[in-house]
Amino acid sequence: MNLTDIGYVKRLMASHGITFQKKFGQNFLINPTVPQRIAEECGAAPEDAILEIGPGIGTMTQYLCEMYAKVVAVEIDHALIGVLKETLADYDNVTVIEGDIMKTDLQALFAEHFAGMRVTVCANLPYYITTPILMLLLESGIPLDNITVMIQKEVADRLSAAPGSAEYGAVTASVSYYASVERLFVVSAGNFLPAPKVDSAVVRMTLYKEKPVNVKSERMLFRVIRSAFGQRRKTLLNALSAGMGDFTKSELTDAIRAAGLNEGIRGEKLSVAQFAALADVLTDKRE
Ligand code: SAM
Repeated sequence: MNLTDIGYVKRLMASHGITFQKKFGQNFLINPTVPQRIAEECGAAPEDAILEIGPGIGTMTQYLCEMYAKVVAVEIDHALIGVLKETLADYDNVTVIEGDIMKTDLQALFAEHFAGMRVTVCANLPYYITTPILMLLLESGIPLDNITVMIQKEVADRLSAAPGSAEYGAVTASVSYYASVERLFVVSAGNFLPAPKVDSAVVRMTLYKEKPVNVKSERMLFRVIRSAFGQRRKTLLNALSAGMGDFTKSELTDAIRAAGLNEGIRGEKLSVAQFAALADVLTDKRE
């Protein structure tokens, strides 16, 4: 079976009476070199386990099963579960779980399937929900080694942007607290069925064993980051006073200065270490 042959994919789906579900971000890979390369470059070793989000009809899953010891794939679309039974029938190292990754108890999934194994996430993510999935994986505290995902090129550019650049945003600063990000390669829209409107890119996030900065309260750090980018054209001081109503403007001015910053600066110039310094001063003010 060739899951990247357009005719085969159409016949397979017709035989199961299903169509592409736009609401689930279904754009399936139809160039075999792409899923193979993502699977090869995800940073896992042969004895490792893979968590795949959104296996679709199993195109990349087949490569992952060939290369790694164990694969668990979470798919939201009930209609695809029967297809996956057929396309993955030759592999005894895969478990398909029907469910929404955003509602999955990841700690329980890890305890049941991945005890004692190194785990990498490898996925062609549904684009309508890319950032929430990434933040869920990072914030959940599950012991991941790497997250290698295909996402919209524009989001990939944002994830690897430097402070001060036009692409740098809340998601860049938040992700950089958890992981180093490498952009691996670009995949043009013509490699998918149906073709999406935008190009994609594959990024590999390698999770830090130790965080690059210490912060007294992660909650405060992410509040500060969100507020700083909530009002992008404003100065840091004005953005924070709009987003953090429980602090007065003079408290915020003091905090910005105490963190070694100038209150005229814009939030998009700050590195995660500078956000952490500011968050620590604000945490102290509330203790
Ligand atoms: N991996 C396949 C490929 O590369 O050809 C399909 C990728 S497609 C871009 C995204 C997949 O994620 C679809 O199969 C879709 O049904 C599934 N999906 C969408 N939202 C999901 C969610 N919240 N949880 C789990 N799977 C989801």
